[in-house]
Amino acid sequence: VDVLSSGGMAQSVPDQAELVDRTIAKGFALLVFPKELEARFLREGASKRFLLMVIAGLASIVLFSQVIIADFLLMRSVVPLALFIRCAVYGPGIVIGLLVVRRLNKPALNEWLVAAAGLWATLLQSVIILQGTGPWAVARVVELNIIVVYTCALARFWPAVTLAGLVALMHTFIVLTMPDGTGILASTTTLLMVTSMAFVLYGNYKLEHDERMAFLLDAREQALHAELMAANERLTHMATTDALTHLANRRYFESFLGECWQRAQAQRRVLSVMVLDVDDFKRYNDLYGHQAGDRCLVGVAQALSSSIRRPGDLVARWGGEEFVIVMMDTDVEAAAAAVERIREAVVQLDLPHQGSRCSTRVTLSGGCATSRPAAHAEWPQLVQLADEALYRAKASGRDRIVVTCDGTVSGEKAEAV
Ligand code: GH3
Ligand code: MG
Ligand code: MG
Repeated sequence: VDVLSSGGMAQSVPDQAELVDRTIAKGFALLVFPKELEARFLREGASKRFLLMVIAGLASIVLFSQVIIADFLLMRSVVPLALFIRCAVYGPGIVIGLLVVRRLNKPALNEWLVAAAGLWATLLQSVIILQGTGPWAVARVVELNIIVVYTCALARFWPAVTLAGLVALMHTFIVLTMPDGTGILASTTTLLMVTSMAFVLYGNYKLEHDERMAFLLDAREQALHAELMAANERLTHMATTDALTHLANRRYFESFLGECWQRAQAQRRVLSVMVLDVDDFKRYNDLYGHQAGDRCLVGVAQALSSSIRRPGDLVARWGGEEFVIVMMDTDVEAAAAAVERIREAVVQLDLPHQGSRCSTRVTLSGGCATSRPAAHAEWPQLVQLADEALYRAKASGRDRIVVTCDGTVSGEKAEAV
């Protein structure tokens, strides 16, 4: 019967918000977040990154193979080897790499595999260049620039820096092994290499920094939203729950019954309302003290909740020592069965009450009214009927629940009440 949820969000929400705020305040010049946040950043971006890797990887296969045209025009002697490397070695390597990325599913490692793909292209391109002879062979080291720019446009910053460093080493090696007389080209290719690396790495850094900042702002918004939702939930819970018994309070009962009433009117369904009152409770307080009185109310609330278990029913504290129960689709017979369960549950409580005029134990009096409400009837009329039945129960000696059989509340009666 616990219609109200207990509220409360995951403990980590405020912690997350604080961590995000601290990271923004402290900055992340080295492009790393605290461990937990870093893992989340990688995890949340993983599927988008993988898609990008697939597209860029497949495009690079096309790009790498069409350089065969340059091989043909500039270094005809290496064409057979180049054809083999470009069409049968590079592509399968990339495809295997992508399969590994997908299989491992480790976002941090995947970023390094992007750089590894760039290195793979660099090595194969270098093998082809080193086989070449003639003046154009040296000029072709500039093709390594294309690989660096292409890969660094996609890779994360640190893998990109690592790749750039390795390509720079490879460039130096090729230039040093070039035949005499071609050294004059080295300064040009080196200058080109250094400037393109500087530009692409600068752009790469800015891009990743922006992307990380966007992630943090988004995470902060999410955390604030979650906090707001949790606070809202707590407030709603507080506004609709009775603090002592944890049952729904009168406010919730009234809106709940209002909704049930409308549904019953629209669909011609039957519903019952029960009003229950602890007998001689003032005397109980006087005899055992107010705190014992509170404990007694909590016990009664539990007994009622345990006997009204159907989802969609509601047990609420109406105020003081009075409780109300709403039971949808419950006719007089079903209500009488509920009365029996309540009676049994209160007997089970077995709370001594020496001040009672009707028993030696705590007892309840109640009134139950059932109705299939007519179109213009209003729910307070049904509560009034139940209250009148309670009055009759009190008047006829307490410790009983009077069920009114004739509880059809009609629109005509509404005017009479
Ligand atoms: P009756 O059998 O006719 O209902 O008699 P009664 O004494 O139960 O009814 P009355 O309305 O005279 O007294 C209700 C008492 O319930 C008075 C009030 O002090 C007590 N009461 C109301 N709310 C609380 C509460 O939250 N805790 C405690 N301990 N007592 C409460
Ligand atoms: Mg009372
Ligand atoms: Mg009472």
